[in-house]
Amino acid sequence: MSDKELQGKIALVTGGSRGIGRATCIALAREGARVAVNYVSNAQASSETVAEIERLGGEAMAVAADVSDPDSVSGMVTAVEKGLGPVDILVTSAGIASMEPHSEMAFENWQRMLAINVDGTYLPVMAVKDGMIERGYGRIVCIASIAGLRPRGRMITYSTSKAAVIAFARSCAEAFGPQIRVNSVAPGLIETDMGSSAGPEVIQRMKDDAYLNRIGQPEEIAETVLFLLSERSSFTTGQTLVADGGRVTLP
Ligand code: NAP
Repeated sequence: MSDKELQGKIALVTGGSRGIGRATCIALAREGARVAVNYVSNAQASSETVAEIERLGGEAMAVAADVSDPDSVSGMVTAVEKGLGPVDILVTSAGIASMEPHSEMAFENWQRMLAINVDGTYLPVMAVKDGMIERGYGRIVCIASIAGLRPRGRMITYSTSKAAVIAFARSCAEAFGPQIRVNSVAPGLIETDMGSSAGPEVIQRMKDDAYLNRIGQPEEIAETVLFLLSERSSFTTGQTLVADGGRVTLP
């Protein structure tokens, strides 16, 4: 018998093609899960994630879907159920970010970001939760951000979207208990395509702000996610775990 904790479990990771999502897919596969790697447009990146998992001896499939689109999400879940089986574990990592002063905010950008970050969390969770409840097992982790806990003036839309993700995950934890655990992770700045787009000045400021004097690696967030998915956190639900090198400390 395998001693891998998630052996045989089926995991779906939105935004699994790159960054935090990719690192999470690989970490899940290392623990024995069979992984569905969602992407929206970067088929090459999703194939690379799948190839890396296969190289490690795991099983994975890529699945294209726009998480902000109900039909697309429903098609994604059907494809995963057909390809791997019913979803036991869901990680919502798909997201977009931008910084702009309030004078440059546009309603279309607000709507797009809320659609991807908030609808894009709601839709996959809603698509898998009934099956999880019926089967009596489910683990969900939603990737939020410290911006949702300490909102910033140059990230009004992003901060709002991530505060919504945190409230959503907490509400779902109560609604879907006791068999289903739902938590969120609030990363600080992480070295991914999204993180690097902040630019060198912002990155330096964030390093200076952090107790650990550095930004994070996607693998460090993946380990935090894995903890919340595993039985090592068996009494933890409805929580937001901050992993930010000490930029935000909560009471
Ligand atoms: P990233 O490297 O930019 O990757 C974004 C991922 O989201 C890609 O897999 C992308 O797919 C996918 N995606 C974007 N829009 C999508 C859509 N409409 N439908 C489906 N997938 C979509 O980002 P990251 O840094 O890993 O961020 C992952 C999550 O962590 C996000 O929710 C982000 O807000 C959060 N976060 C990141 C940081 C950071 O500093 N990096 C900090 C705090 C929180 P394609 O490859 O197909 O484009």
